[in-house]
Amino acid sequence: MRLAPLAIALLLATATPAFAQSTATPAAAASSAAQAPYALPSLPYAVEALQPAIDAETMTLHHQRHHGAAVKALNDLSATVPALRDGAIEPLLATVSTQPAGVRNNLGSHYNHSLFWTVMAPAGQGGEPSAELAAAITQGFGSMDAMKQQFSQAAATRFGSGWAWLIVKADGTLAITSTPNQDNPLMDVAELRGTPVLGLDVWEHAYYLKYRNVRGDYIAAWWDVVNWNEVNRRYAAATAARSP
Ligand code: MN
Repeated sequence: MRLAPLAIALLLATATPAFAQSTATPAAAASSAAQAPYALPSLPYAVEALQPAIDAETMTLHHQRHHGAAVKALNDLSATVPALRDGAIEPLLATVSTQPAGVRNNLGSHYNHSLFWTVMAPAGQGGEPSAELAAAITQGFGSMDAMKQQFSQAAATRFGSGWAWLIVKADGTLAITSTPNQDNPLMDVAELRGTPVLGLDVWEHAYYLKYRNVRGDYIAAWWDVVNWNEVNRRYAAATAARSP
């Protein structure tokens, strides 16, 4: 049997992607990195470093599979969404209502998880709130304990999947809020907008292996691994950014 040229072309077109994938080499991967504007950041500690609050298996899956999938999806999307081609993050979050849904979900996930890894540190290594942050917390919530209680409540009562946040609002004051799914307070779709200085992931993938359905125990244990040094840095940057 003799195939018409069109049939041959169709066969080749179908076969090519599988062929390219199965013979991918390090060199091919390196050349495609030029078209990958987003990268999965490394964890700033070992996967077991936050135990017992967060177990190593959860940390590995959460970072590599969940955050990794969002980064891959963003890079795939960048082929068809020009706004993603230079790796922008915050300007796109601020205008996310005008972007395809994939940007809201995956860029939100990338920003949220990137922040989340940095605002945690091994127990005893996260320092303390700075004098400035502590004063703002007392002013905003009455006390550190009251802030933690309100934040924990926001995390516990977020229905389904989402995040709890401590944010600096446009007027420079602190507030606590929560967002559904992978939304965050930088998005124009957020109920309460501001710059996050602390965030907690309350998706089941963040705690279910160790805590099962008991989200409250995860939230309570998480305070032991908050990296106040990074929260201080983010607070200083957010308040400096709005100074004249
Ligand atoms: Mn997550």
